[in-house]
Amino acid sequence: MYDALRNRYRFTCPSTDGNVERPLSALRSIERLAGAASPPVYRVTYGCAACAGEHAALLTERDLDVDPVAPRESTTFRNLLTGRDEPVAPELADRTERKLRRGVWPWTFYCACEHDVRPGYPSRLARLAPTRHPGLVGVAVRCAACDGVSINIVSERHLDEPFYHDPTVRFVDRPLAPGAGLVERFTHELWSGAFDHERNRFAA
Ligand SMILES: [Zn+2]
Ligand SMILES: [Zn+2]
Repeated sequence: MYDALRNRYRFTCPSTDGNVERPLSALRSIERLAGAASPPVYRVTYGCAACAGEHAALLTERDLDVDPVAPRESTTFRNLLTGRDEPVAPELADRTERKLRRGVWPWTFYCACEHDVRPGYPSRLARLAPTRHPGLVGVAVRCAACDGVSINIVSERHLDEPFYHDPTVRFVDRPLAPGAGLVERFTHELWSGAFDHERNRFAA
């Protein structure tokens, strides 16, 4: 489940049994499960704020990609003016529609195959890892247009706040070949520190 007001996914820590709320940038891997075709289901791992461990959880495509921009009707917020709990969904859905109509996407990533910035989705993030720069996260992201895998370095806010885009995209300008050793190659590239960057035309 997703808290659209705080931009957090809700999980249950298996060690403490407590609820934990983690932003997209705290996820570490996202993998589509084979077989579950409709709706697609993903196995994610996340860094736990309750016990500092890393856990796995299952999320649907709707949980990952849709709830952050168009939450379910059941999500409410306490309106301080009226003192009533009011639904969040209509307002956020309206905002999303207006943005999409203007050509603003909730998430964008640089594609090293196409040498261009492309729209993306949380479910397309194969791996996420902290970098040596505080607040910056390295991601291996599968392009929504051509399916190539690229390495981007993005701010936590770029991931956690839909429709916010880093003014500058940082990336490794050659695709990450799929197959065995992807995680090792991703980690190696991330720590080699040789990144290109350019202005993101999607940034406000
Ligand atoms: Zn935990
Ligand atoms: Zn692409």
